[in-house]
Formats: sequence, C-alpha cells, structure tokens
Amino acid sequence: MNDVPKQLFIGGSWRDAADAATFPVDDPATGLVIARVADAGPKDARLAEEAAVAAQPDWGRTAPRERSEILRRAYEIMLSRVDELALLMTSEMGKPLAQARGEVAYAAEFFRWFAEEAVRIDGGYGVLPDGRTRMVLMRRPVGPCLLVTPWNFPLAMGTRKIGPAIAAGCTMVLKPAPQTPLSALALAGILREAGLPDGVLNVVTTSRAGEVVEPLLRGGRIRKLSFTGSTEVGRLLLAQCADAVLRTSMELGGNAPFIVFEDADPAAAVDGAMTAKLRNMGEACTAANRFFVHRSLAGEFGRRLADRMGALVVGPGTAEGVDIGPLIDGAGRAKVEDLVADAAGRGARVLTGGITPDGPGHFYPPTVLTEVHPASRLMQTEIFGPVAAVLVFDDEDEVVRRADDTPWGLVGYVYTEGLDRALRVGERLDVGMVGVNTGLVSNPAAPFGGIKQSGLGREGGRVGIEEFLEYKYLAVPVR
Ligand code: NAP
Repeated sequence: MNDVPKQLFIGGSWRDAADAATFPVDDPATGLVIARVADAGPKDARLAEEAAVAAQPDWGRTAPRERSEILRRAYEIMLSRVDELALLMTSEMGKPLAQARGEVAYAAEFFRWFAEEAVRIDGGYGVLPDGRTRMVLMRRPVGPCLLVTPWNFPLAMGTRKIGPAIAAGCTMVLKPAPQTPLSALALAGILREAGLPDGVLNVVTTSRAGEVVEPLLRGGRIRKLSFTGSTEVGRLLLAQCADAVLRTSMELGGNAPFIVFEDADPAAAVDGAMTAKLRNMGEACTAANRFFVHRSLAGEFGRRLADRMGALVVGPGTAEGVDIGPLIDGAGRAKVEDLVADAAGRGARVLTGGITPDGPGHFYPPTVLTEVHPASRLMQTEIFGPVAAVLVFDDEDEVVRRADDTPWGLVGYVYTEGLDRALRVGERLDVGMVGVNTGLVSNPAAPFGGIKQSGLGREGGRVGIEEFLEYKYLAVPVR
C-alpha cells in the first residue's frame, strides 16, 4: 500500500490538492482507515481540465500504432502485477482475492482489446448521388473527456473507458469513486510507465464530487462525459451535460431478471444463478435481482440455491477460502437489510441467511427468499447485495411481461434447453444483453450496455471506440 501514489495525477505529475485536503480510504472488512488520498476541489479540477485540453491537439495527431503500443504495454504491466493489484483492490473494496485477480485480468483485457482497435479506425470514400461530388469520410477524436467511475469494479470500470479513449486519441480527466481511489491511481502509474504522454490522463480523487464534476461539465471545454454509476446520479449529470451539449455514454443501474423455464437443466440454472447473483457479492449492475422460476421447478431451485449459498464462507476478502467479502460500506449494508426486512414483512420465507453478523466490517450473509410478494421493494430497486429473491411463474408471455416491468433494461438471463425459446425470449426481453444458459455476459469483445433507464451507448466490442470518435466528411465536387 505504501508505494501506491496517493496524490492527484495532473499533467504527468503527482501533486497534493491545492488546499492540501485529504480524505480517508477504509477497508470495508474492518472499517479501519488504510490510506489518505488527496481530496481535489474545483481549483484542482480546473488544472486537470487545462492539462487535458492542452494535451489534446498533439495527442489527437499521434500515430494510431503509438497509441496501440502504449495500451499493449499497459496490458502487459497489469498482467505482470496481478497479485499486487488484486490485493490493493480487495483492501479498499472488499471482494475476495480470487475475484479481484479475475478483475485485474478482465480490466487488462480492455487495454489489449483497444490496443487492437486503435489501428482499425477507418474512414470512407464515396460518390454522392449527383455523380459529381466525392465524399471523403474521416473519424476524429471527440476531444477531452470526463470519465466518472463507481467503486464496484475499481479497475475494470476505469480501463473500459480509458482504453477506448486512448485508442481514439482523446485526452481525459478521470474521477474515480471515493471508496476506491487507490486502484485508479495505480492505473495512472501503470499508464505513465507504459509511455502515456503527460496530460493525456489526469486523475482527480475527491470526496467533493459535485464541486469537481459540475464545473467541468458546464464549462464548455470538456467535450464528453462517460459515466458509470447509478441511474439517479446519471440523470442528474445528463442534465448538467445539456448546457454545453456534451456527448455522453451512460452505464447505469440494472434490475436483471433471471428466468428458469420448465425445460431448463436445474443444476446448470443453479450454477448460473450463483454467478449472476454472487459475483462481487451481488454488488454488480449485472447482478440477477429477480429470479423467475417456472412453478414446476421453483421448489427444487430454491432449495438447491439455498444449500449452495448457505454453504459459502463469509469473511475478509484477503483471507484464504473466503467466497463472500464485506459490502462496500454501512449504507450499502443497511439498504440490503431494509430490503430483506421489507420482503419478509410482506410474507417472504427466508430459506438461508437474512441475519447480519456481529463484529466489525460490513458483512451480510448470502440470503435466499422465496414466496416474495410482487409489491416488495426489492422488485423495483437494485439489491446490490448477496440476496436472491425467487418468484414463481406459469407461462412465457407472463414471465416476459413481468421481467420487463421495470424502468431498467441492462441485462437478462434465460435458462432453457429449447433453442427456439432461447431465441424468442432473448429477442423479446427489453434489455441490452441476454445471457442464454450462462450467468455471465461481460466480455471486452462484446458491446456492454443497456436500454431504457440503464443507459446510453455501449462499452467494449467493436462499437466501444465509436463512443470516443466523431464523424467528419469533406465534400469535394470533381470537375
Ligand atoms: P453512484 O453513487 O452513482 O456514483 C458513481 C460515481 O458518480 C462516483 O464516482 C460518485 O462519486 C459520482 N457521483 C455521485 N454523485 C455525483 C454528483 N452529484 N456529481 C458528480 N459525480 C457524482 O454509483 P456507485 O454507488 O458508485 O455505483 C453503483 C451503481 O453503479 C449501481 O447503480 C450500479 O448498477 C451502477 N453500475 C453500472 C454499471 C454499468 O455498466 N451499467 C457498472 C457498474 C456499476 P461520489 O461517491 O463521491 O458521489
């Protein structure tokens, strides 16, 4: 921890906040402070913006191969430091080390993917319908970007934005979540080591998000916001982006349905449910929030899931053999407790879990609820914890209607052995991604994102870089 930078990273230098302020970073497994980092205010934000704006013209003209090779080197550095990055992430965020190692590899993969995309930015040439005018179509970087990230995947949510921004030739200011600034600062150090020029990436850690972000969004020099976080904050930031008419990419919340049809393989469905529910202790936008199980399988599914979830080891993410780490903070745990109490108060049966353990840390046990009343609050809000709510359905039309009865549309999961049913339901669900007989959809090579109030735009895949590119064309009449 000692060698991780704890200052702001602006214009290629590490520096304290202008007013020398710092804020504490806690270990959610103990509640103890593990570090203090610089606490940027509006003055620091302006400096970071200036650095990004000043670096943009030269950076936008760099050879794509140069940008590609920086990303490739950063990918390799990350992979050479999996253990230390994983430990850092677990210390500030809580996920078990094995999952943290998985996230380092996943996060690094965005750098490799976008290293490959950087050299594939294309344009076009066309004869317009008048037969006379030629169109030369080119792509250009959007310009300086503001990247705002959440705490739940501290490295991957950063690389999923930084990777395409570098590939496209954009400069940026990154504002990570205050719970997990150390991972973001480590990332800045790695990119510097990989040869990223000064000013291309600037990192402002802060406990004063509104004071730092709003002036940049309204100021007219930042050209794009790429945000990952809750729908509530996303909506607020979209309004702030309106003044300067910024491009936006918004990766917001979810309320994923997980549907188990009568022809599903029950064992495979329970395996998939474990992944879709418990990755990151359930603190994922992709977490299955509502389990719809066909009446003929519901009893068996609930029992099997409760057996598996009840057998998991809860403890500090750094300890050997732990499956479920702490939740991020006291507020996150209190929300989960309230949602479970609300569901139980409306008649839900608690098959396992449901009791907060004593002692330090923000731990909550894996919990399975059945006979959940549809009016329960956890049906209409992200649980963001290791709680599975099992509901019963009878037919396909009914379950699709109920699955879509939410303002969100990020991801859905479908378990069935029938190919035509998988395709039919996969097409019908109002979401941006569907896992068919799998509990995991995230992949750097696929376009990640949602519809409805789950967001705008996509990250990753072939389209990920598009979010950071503009079109421009030259009209050339030929005599
Ligand atoms: P959050 O509260 O919305 O915060 C996200 C980021 O926005 C943080 O850096 C936060 O900093 C900042 N922020 C909050 N209020 C702000 C304001 N008024 N002005 C400027 N910045 C502000 O979300 P979170 O609790 O960190 O993350 C969990 C949420 O992210 C969940 O809803 C989850 O579904 C979503 N998520 C979505 C995806 C996806 O790809 N769709 C991926 C991961 C997570 P402060 O905390 O300092 O306010």
